[in-house]
Amino acid sequence: MKPLLEPPARTLVRRAADPKGIAEAAEILTKGGLVAFPTETVYGLGADATSEAAVGRIFAAKGRPDVNPLIAHVPSLDVARAQGEFSRDASRLAEAFWPGPLTLVVPVARGTSVCARARAGRDTIALRVPAHPVAVALVTAAGLPIAAPSANRSGRVSPVTAAHVLDDLDGRVDLVLDGGRCPEGLESTIVACLDGPPRLLRSGAVSRAAIEAALGFALAEPTVAEHILAPGMLASHYAPRAHLHLGATELRDGEAGLDFGGTFPEGTHVRDLSPARDLEEAARNLFLYLRELDALGYEVIAVAPIPREGLGEAINDRLARAAAPRP
Ligand code: AMP
Ligand code: MG
Repeated sequence: MKPLLEPPARTLVRRAADPKGIAEAAEILTKGGLVAFPTETVYGLGADATSEAAVGRIFAAKGRPDVNPLIAHVPSLDVARAQGEFSRDASRLAEAFWPGPLTLVVPVARGTSVCARARAGRDTIALRVPAHPVAVALVTAAGLPIAAPSANRSGRVSPVTAAHVLDDLDGRVDLVLDGGRCPEGLESTIVACLDGPPRLLRSGAVSRAAIEAALGFALAEPTVAEHILAPGMLASHYAPRAHLHLGATELRDGEAGLDFGGTFPEGTHVRDLSPARDLEEAARNLFLYLRELDALGYEVIAVAPIPREGLGEAINDRLARAAAPRP
């Protein structure tokens, strides 16, 4: 066999998330480039949130509709306060959950540096202080708010490894920082703190119960307008190639199985999200196992019933979108 003269293109943009890789990534961001990086939720596709051109590259790389605003990642609540206006409730939630997988939608501050395109022209802004050490180091080194949706093509399953990012976005990003698997595995929970009581726009890695405990009262539902434009709120999202059969109590011939708590017999075509019925473990495994099963090429993936409490709310939300009819 002839030796390869060049490594395959896909390895060219991948770097270890060590200090050297992070410094290189930060420089790319300051020059308007695109960097995929690990966060505690999923891999993000980052760009300078202050630059209309850089943000435009995110929408182009993902094939994301430009009406869908982006979350700006900042290193601290102090920096966030320069970008958005924090009500008492918003401050309480930021203090309770930042750094961490909670996104707050607040009125945009007059002096914001985040460009209108990142906000899809709205007078509100979505902010998050991530906890993952690589994300913190990158956002700090770049010295800019970093707009970062999940690093997948729009509508596809969110990436929880660097390999997933390259599967979707190879040739469309300048660099992928490989920091291993994302520890939470589910996107951030999004709460709007605008007029009236805080509203849950998207369930995610922080449970509704944890947020309500911090607030001392129940979250409200999104308004009709918010519901339509909300996150991945397009009915079909997180979609694998296979069709999902939700709430399956048995595995039929010719189906792959996404199991929970040992409902299905074991097999090479079955992945159990959590044999011990632990919803945090199930959340961590959800997108990884969906991608693995999808790669096996089955027409149908049967999905065992998963309880709706705690993180089960977000897990069931993602599965319902993955099962929805495609546009
Ligand atoms: P993601 O697709 O995971 O990056 O999540 C981004 C989601 O956050 C969007 O789809 C919106 O639903 C929500 N979001 C971001 N920015 C805003 C904003 N300024 N106002 C309301 N919702 C927002
Ligand atoms: Mg996404």
